[in-house]
Amino acid sequence: MGSRLFRPLRLCLSFLILLGMFAGGCLAPETPRQPSLRERGPLADKYIRERLAVWQRRLNLQDWNISVVTTRASELRRRTMGNIRWDADKKTASIRVLDASDYPMPFPVALQDMEFTIVHELIHLELASMPRSEASRREEEFAVNHIAGALLQLDRKD
Ligand SMILES: [Zn+2]
Repeated sequence: MGSRLFRPLRLCLSFLILLGMFAGGCLAPETPRQPSLRERGPLADKYIRERLAVWQRRLNLQDWNISVVTTRASELRRRTMGNIRWDADKKTASIRVLDASDYPMPFPVALQDMEFTIVHELIHLELASMPRSEASRREEEFAVNHIAGALLQLDRKD
């Protein structure tokens, strides 16, 4: 973990040396703060609700009443990061997203992946009225992943 701080600092110093400048502070970029385990749950909840609202609007799904909850890995199907259930008549849907504490990666990266799950599940909802079969399910999964990836790449460009 320590090397993460050192590399940008060294680059920064050599840049200054190239410019012949030594004055002025040059700080290594701050590594994202890792909140305590206790803080993570509420932070993740807030984050996924905010991101759900953003993507629901972008995907024009405002007429749906959509909820999102974090779920432990043990309550999800094996090797899945989340799921969605909907009632097309009532226009209600509920998304389950893998809990941040079950991610084997740093918290900020886990949050990004949780957002990916939300976008992924919303695209399934977008396609809810299309005919589905066991055969099309796998193809849909591929397409949904590609679309979600492209949307998030655009969103995170800057
Ligand atoms: Zn899916």
